[in-house]
Amino acid sequence: MPIAVDARPAPEHLAEAFRRVRAAGHADQPAVLVHDLERLRAKIADVAAAFAAPGALHTLAIKANPLVGVLRVAVAAGAGLEAASIEEVHLALRAGCPPDRIVFDSPVKTEAELAEALRLGLRINADNFAEIERIAALHTPASTSQIGLRINPELAEAALALTSVGHRGSRFGVPLSQRPAIVDAFERHAFLTGLHVHIGSQGVTIPELVDGVARVWDLRRELVAARPVPIDMFDLGGGLPAQYRDDAARLTPTAYAAALRAAIPELFTADVLIVTEFGRSILADCGFVVSRVEVTKPGPVAVLHVGADLFVRRVYRPHEWHHDFIALGRDGRLLAGEPVPTTLAGPLCFGGDLLARDLPLPSLAAGDHVLIRDTGAYTLSMWSRYCSRAIPLVVGLDGPELTVLRPRDRISDVVAFWGG
Ligand SMILES: *Cc1c(COP(=O)(O)O)cnc(C)c1O
Repeated sequence: MPIAVDARPAPEHLAEAFRRVRAAGHADQPAVLVHDLERLRAKIADVAAAFAAPGALHTLAIKANPLVGVLRVAVAAGAGLEAASIEEVHLALRAGCPPDRIVFDSPVKTEAELAEALRLGLRINADNFAEIERIAALHTPASTSQIGLRINPELAEAALALTSVGHRGSRFGVPLSQRPAIVDAFERHAFLTGLHVHIGSQGVTIPELVDGVARVWDLRRELVAARPVPIDMFDLGGGLPAQYRDDAARLTPTAYAAALRAAIPELFTADVLIVTEFGRSILADCGFVVSRVEVTKPGPVAVLHVGADLFVRRVYRPHEWHHDFIALGRDGRLLAGEPVPTTLAGPLCFGGDLLARDLPLPSLAAGDHVLIRDTGAYTLSMWSRYCSRAIPLVVGLDGPELTVLRPRDRISDVVAFWGG
């Protein structure tokens, strides 16, 4: 059956997937993270189909989900990988990604890291002028790396200040208003043949994304007219929001690509390698988490095995980071019943470790489960070691196949993490 990537996976479907995980011998796990690898493949294919730019390099942002098993599936499905650190570059290599399909975007690259990136032949986006000078000193004609410069398009305002990076005052990239200095850098360095823009993440709109890309495309026009060396890599970043609620708009890659095509028709026909770097929009709805309810307390409060360790943003800024929660019984079936305002508490030793307050849910008892939707991006990758609990079991479902992507931490793993 084809996978409906234009709709959220239905609660019944998620509950059924959880029951399969339990049946495969994992019923005693306090919590489990599940990734739908078949859906990931379909989401990657959907991006490629939406842009319909043959030869485009669609990369997956590793920081959204660095599990090597997930990255491997993405690479096998035709995606490249975007690395926010040299460590992520090595995750990409481990996942079998060819170096020319790795985009190295770290905002703080040391000389040694730049030398390694050039030696490997990665695509590199410089963040600032000082980095360009470092690359100039290290670059040799033998290097196959393609090098771009990240531009901050200086959009007017950010809905989500914490994750926006393409607005006035952002520290990422060279501000577009420094046009003369940008033109000068491209005139002096023939190795600079790419432009990069990444505007933000959850909270931006398609018109904002298109506005940012169009501003940098305008810059490309000017640069191309000014010098003989082509600018043949145009990296428009990621940033498309994911749908975390049924009543929120679903911003599809098809809608985004259509808006880009309308605003910049030549983007898709110019002699240029289009690069994208989506993370959240591809991965979020490819994953969910289920925790057993360990105990209930008056309130009612249901105490779970995941909290601020796995959901840092949700716990500290609950109004900005929504998740839907689904109550499941002992057997993993959807619970019915009159909703009661329920507080979902995490397992950490501080009063604020709450995933939800007074959320209407069917009455939960110890041994029941809570399923948390849309956890495929920026969840495990942001794991906090506070209170030193084990990272739960992580599994991948691929049609009928189940694979362990990461076994639950052993206590000795945690002790070793802290130097023991
Ligand atoms: C984080 C990041 C991405 C991915 O962003 P999403 O919002 O997950 O699509 C892409 N490019 C760069 C440079 C990033 O920092």
